[in-house]
Amino acid sequence: MPGVVIASANGIVGIEAAVRLLQMGGTALDAVLASTRLVEANPDDHTVGFSGLPNMLGEVELDASVMDGKGLRAGGVGALIGFQDAVDLARRVMDDLPHSLITGAGAARFAAEIGLDPRDLLTPEAEAIWRRRIDAERLEQVGRSAYFSRISEIVGRSASNADFAVDGEPPHGTVNFIARDRAGNIACAVSTSGWAWKYPGRIGDSPVIGAGNYADNRWGAAACTGRGEMAQRCCTAHSVVTFMRFGMSIDRALETAMRDLNALDDPYLSEMNIVGMDRDGNPAAVSTAEGKSYVVMSEDMSEPELRPRTVVRLDKLG
Ligand code: ASP
Repeated sequence: MPGVVIASANGIVGIEAAVRLLQMGGTALDAVLASTRLVEANPDDHTVGFSGLPNMLGEVELDASVMDGKGLRAGGVGALIGFQDAVDLARRVMDDLPHSLITGAGAARFAAEIGLDPRDLLTPEAEAIWRRRIDAERLEQVGRSAYFSRISEIVGRSASNADFAVDGEPPHGTVNFIARDRAGNIACAVSTSGWAWKYPGRIGDSPVIGAGNYADNRWGAAACTGRGEMAQRCCTAHSVVTFMRFGMSIDRALETAMRDLNALDDPYLSEMNIVGMDRDGNPAAVSTAEGKSYVVMSEDMSEPELRPRTVVRLDKLG
């Protein structure tokens, strides 16, 4: 069966590279890494890698993970500062360390040890957006409660109020890639600069295996974008794969995992999106919001195709 790759819509800049690798006989794992790397390098994407939007203090902190559905190998990095190639670092965590997740100073130390190029990830454009949204000096004077009420306001209003959005989009995002190669191996990579203006050291769902990323050759894979704390608390990516294991189609599995979020008591309840693929390479994607898309390309397609996500509304979001 020809290889196939799916991604969140911002993966459009990398999906063709992944498919070319599969066409040359490359593995699903190599494909998702190659494509994610391109998104991390894309200066126009303020949600991933270089030029990502920073945390509360103006520092860009990256989260990323990779999972190989063959043998359930996985690696993740969280709150990585000063290096762009978060997904490559996640792969080296998986390959070289007896750990599956490293964070902060340890992650930066490991990046330097393996020779990744250090880079200042905060671009003038991302810094200007940050300064417009978060007056860090004032917030430090008035303290944490002012910060959290500001964050609450931003989360609550970002979807509907252009003042809080970045180019019409909420101030968060992530890239998801899932690939299935000709041998039937499935791999999933996720990378993000996280929730903009987050508290320093905050780690979202993206590097947490089972929350924002899960892949198992026997059943399929899933990955999330949206407010990571929701996916962490419901183990959303793992749920999708488990539901397929117990017989649901990819569409039902995605919808059921999304409806599970209704149990959350969460004042910051916000948008959630999931992409998924079953073990045969069938893709699907859902979102709590209207008008969202994802991207699909298989080896026998000449170009990627943007497809609409099925909308699954959360009761409390209306
Ligand atoms: N899931 C990411 C996080 O919580 C952000 C996003 O995808 O919007 O860090």
